[in-house]
Amino acid sequence: MKFPKHQKAIIIGAGIAGIAAAIRLKAKGYDVTVFERNAYPGGKLSEISGNGFRFDAGPSLFTMPQYVDELFLLHKKNPRDYFNYKKLNNTGIYFYADGTRMVAHSNAQNFAQEMEEKLNTPAEYVFQFLEKSKTIFNITYHVFLERSIHRLSTYLRWATVKSVFNFHKIEAFKTMNDVSKEMFEDYRAQQYFNRYATYNGSNPFKAPATLHVIPHLEHAFGAFIPEGGMYSITKSLVKLANEVGVEFIYHSNVEEIIYDHKKNISGVKANGTFYAAEKVVSNMDMVYTYRKLLPKIKAPEKILTQEKSSSALIFYWGINKTFNTLDLHNFFFTSNYQKEFNAIEKGTIDEDPTIYINITSKEVPEDAPLNAENWFVMINVPNNNGQNWDELISVARKNIIDKISKRLNVDIESHIVFEEILDPRKIEMKTSSFKGALYGNSSNNKYAAFLRHANKSNILNGLYFCGGSVHPGGGIPLALLSAKIATENL
Ligand SMILES: Cc1cc2nc3c(=O)[nH]c(=O)nc-3n(C[C@H](O)[C@H](O)[C@H](O)COP(=O)(O)OP(=O)(O)OC[C@H]3O[C@@H](n4cnc5c(N)ncnc54)[C@H](O)[C@@H]3O)c2cc1C
Repeated sequence: MKFPKHQKAIIIGAGIAGIAAAIRLKAKGYDVTVFERNAYPGGKLSEISGNGFRFDAGPSLFTMPQYVDELFLLHKKNPRDYFNYKKLNNTGIYFYADGTRMVAHSNAQNFAQEMEEKLNTPAEYVFQFLEKSKTIFNITYHVFLERSIHRLSTYLRWATVKSVFNFHKIEAFKTMNDVSKEMFEDYRAQQYFNRYATYNGSNPFKAPATLHVIPHLEHAFGAFIPEGGMYSITKSLVKLANEVGVEFIYHSNVEEIIYDHKKNISGVKANGTFYAAEKVVSNMDMVYTYRKLLPKIKAPEKILTQEKSSSALIFYWGINKTFNTLDLHNFFFTSNYQKEFNAIEKGTIDEDPTIYINITSKEVPEDAPLNAENWFVMINVPNNNGQNWDELISVARKNIIDKISKRLNVDIESHIVFEEILDPRKIEMKTSSFKGALYGNSSNNKYAAFLRHANKSNILNGLYFCGGSVHPGGGIPLALLSAKIATENL
């Protein structure tokens, strides 16, 4: 295959960030090719189906849809011709160990009222918490999320200077749980807000309270569901990319990033063949980018050896029954959150884990046959350190079925008509994510934001990085922002 000698960019990986980087570089006039190891695009944001059921394989919670829309607008296309989404009336149904069922209404007034009625928590405390979350967002957004924190120009901006003066308000020296306990007497309210740590695979008993910024995303901006489910994000972006002339080569494993003696990028080697390019953007996990694609470059060990985020164990169950008490997002809390996270820290799974059930057929009826539901049943688990996963999965499966069956008063096992399982080993194998961690480095450390890799190489000219394992972090919105930051000065 021959490429023109100028303005050629290669993207390694068709994860959501890789696709976004390709679309952005195309808008800048580059000739762009994406090499993807798998036969399909999307990486973690893919889908599986069987027996009449369809499941989103990975992400299920969708916030900040404007970052997807932005990519269509860059090419002067109307996003609504490609991709639609709906704002949810509630962000989840919460089932507590004591039998309480709470609906997290999107509307702040209704949410605070529900917390007051169900969790014995004065509405004014809820408003105070949401206000704190907003303050942290306003201080951190321009500095840690929207821009490169590795470039001097970020620190010379007035918005950054103003934020720095307010840093004492972002609670970086307390844990999330410290602040939850300070603000709420009721354990269940603490548990509700602590759960947001899991949005980036962290532990609320260790992670800085700065992460209390996350509820602001859901409660102020909203939670959404794309029409046709999460995978339509991938599908619509690939459609756009194809239309504007991005080339995708599937089944194509990049084995090495090639550079000359002056440390200028010259291309990549994929499936044994050299492909020339002036710019390379790696969407591969940062650890594997260095260990596998750049074996002769001195790796930034301090960054690569940071603690990794947690992983997930997912059961995709086709259920031949429908449940009125459940909605799109459902959470069955553990009775002891600290114990659950301690088990994850020890590399194992607690006997009473918090269970998340996502049922897209509640919003997308085609995802399941009539009178049936597609259950995506997920628990947070440690990342892969060679544990005996078969044993852990078999015990967890039984505990999950027992807990849900008791809670819904139905023998769930007898209603499972389809099953697939995704575990940390498979996540690592399918997406080349180091240890199967969902979000790269964990955010358990108060300096974590500064210990994520930059979006531009300071060793090789023409090499850039995007995706959930680099700045600003994992999750769809941040992965999309990483592509924006990586390509903005190209
Ligand atoms: C189970 C699960 C639940 C999640 N839940 C949520 C959620 O609810 N909300 C949310 O916002 N986020 C969630 N996330 C996180 C979110 O999915 C990721 O942050 C995001 O999809 C990361 O995208 P990415 O582009 O960084 O990388 P990936 O999706 O990991 O894609 C990387 C791609 O690069 C390819 N690749 C790697 N190496 C090579 C190579 N050498 N050559 C060619 N190709 C290569 C891989 O095959 C893969 O396709 C979840 C993730 C998982 C797994």
